[in-house]
Amino acid sequence: MACTIAIDGPAAAGKGTISKAVAAHFGFAHLDTGLLYRAVGRRVLDGVPPVEAARALRAEDLAADDLRTQEVAQAASEVAVIPEVRAALVDFQRAFARRSGGAVLDGRDIGTIICPEAEVKLFVTASAEVRAQRRFAELTEKGTETDYATVLADVRDRDARDMGRADAPLKPAADAVQIDTSELSIDEAVAEAIAVVNSAK
Ligand code: C5P
Repeated sequence: MACTIAIDGPAAAGKGTISKAVAAHFGFAHLDTGLLYRAVGRRVLDGVPPVEAARALRAEDLAADDLRTQEVAQAASEVAVIPEVRAALVDFQRAFARRSGGAVLDGRDIGTIICPEAEVKLFVTASAEVRAQRRFAELTEKGTETDYATVLADVRDRDARDMGRADAPLKPAADAVQIDTSELSIDEAVAEAIAVVNSAK
């Protein structure tokens, strides 16, 4: 049986970690849909027009090693407001969601737009301060020069753009189960997500 698990939420709430762990636990494939927007943003930084970049995107582009920078994240959230860019990325995501053997997709609009029929929908959140603290620790660990205030401003900026856009804004689906990870360890958050999936089976 194919089973789609949709996991949405703002930047650095823990979606990626939870999605990977849930996919591994159930033996499902995982797609981090943010990578699609990041790969388009990356091409735009190189001077390619956004819609052209989205239409020409190939699966191999998702493996580029420089998609995790703050600069690319901002570019991704800027191209993500363009309806034609979003439209160009829909088929790839839906095909992935329908693969046999089950799939976990994480992003901003999976439960609302891409897979409104998903068997399980999670909305993973945490306060902006906690998310900025986590992202700051991650960047510092990688050796990126930055400071907490800049990362917090960046998180708030991206939240505002993701929640405020007209096309597919970030919001929980009406039937999504919310998990606030502000006060949870990674193991606790993953256990809660797995429990939600098990209870929906
Ligand atoms: O999840 P991640 O931080 O990698 O996403 C980068 C940006 O891509 C987000 O800030 C958002 O603007 C956009 N995005 C989106 N819809 C998705 C996934 C990501 O608009 N399903």
